[in-house]
Amino acid sequence: MKQPLLEVKNLQTSFRTEEGLVRAVDGVSFSLRQGEVLGLAGESGCGKSVTAYSISRLLPMPPGQFDGGEILYKGRDILGLKEEEMRRIRGREIAVVFQEPMSALNPVASVSAQIEEALAIHTSLGKAERKERVVHLLARVGIPDPAQRALCYPHELSGGMRQRVMIAMAVSCDPSLLIADEPTTALDVTIQAQILKLIQDMKNETGSAMLLITHDLAVIAETADRAAIMYAGKLVETAAVKNLFAEPAHPYTRGLLNSIPVLGSPGRKLKSIPGRVPNLIDLPGGCAFANRCELAGSRCRNEMPRMVNKDEGHQVRCHLHDGGVK
Ligand code: SF4
Repeated sequence: MKQPLLEVKNLQTSFRTEEGLVRAVDGVSFSLRQGEVLGLAGESGCGKSVTAYSISRLLPMPPGQFDGGEILYKGRDILGLKEEEMRRIRGREIAVVFQEPMSALNPVASVSAQIEEALAIHTSLGKAERKERVVHLLARVGIPDPAQRALCYPHELSGGMRQRVMIAMAVSCDPSLLIADEPTTALDVTIQAQILKLIQDMKNETGSAMLLITHDLAVIAETADRAAIMYAGKLVETAAVKNLFAEPAHPYTRGLLNSIPVLGSPGRKLKSIPGRVPNLIDLPGGCAFANRCELAGSRCRNEMPRMVNKDEGHQVRCHLHDGGVK
């Protein structure tokens, strides 16, 4: 079998704060193959964005720090790379679409200048070819009158247009891995579906793999091949999307699924998960979900569940699937 494009092994990322050490990512492992879409989901503060920022090495350090693990990109541990080497990989090989394009784009440079800069760093295209490619890319992401819009500054564009520019910039150098961090969250509901479709189309065109970070399982259902559910810094369930939706094994995954509306089931009652995400500075012993889990038993409060295989390609971290909760 071919080597995965990305292998994250036992990643541990934390933040030093005045209150103490926040273990944002605690022993996360997953892999991603060429062309595959992995959806990483969970409530805000579960560590999914920190995982994305760790892989792209865009985490501010300090206060962030890597405490252990490996991030193998094409077999090479990128945690050991110098920033200069990482800069060459970022943009060319690994590109990121951020949640809020206004803070990711440079407010004092035109759209054209920003995309051209990426092309100048990562490709051998001459100036005229770069300008041509910028217009082509803007047209490709659905920006009307692209030659004119290329001269605009970010504040002159709508939120949806800015996200299209971010996507054009991200795919400008045909990256192998696209990381999209809540790419539609900051947008109007009416254009969320368009942007999601655009990201999918661009991913299919470039043949890249994608790590899609979202709090919205409906987005995962529509977009991803596999899903990984994260809670309090750990993965609690991973499976092919159709298996996860057909047979969710972890009580937290079931809770997330029960809280989203399903088309064609108007009478279905939506149920929110009771309680709150625990404080990552002071996690309880045992299962971090125990204080919100209706099925928790005494073992859950004392012993950390391990990740076990439920079925082929379906893993879950819950005592219910590993000997029981008593
Ligand atoms: Fe619930 Fe126990 Fe499973 Fe944790 S280990 S999810 S508390 S049943």
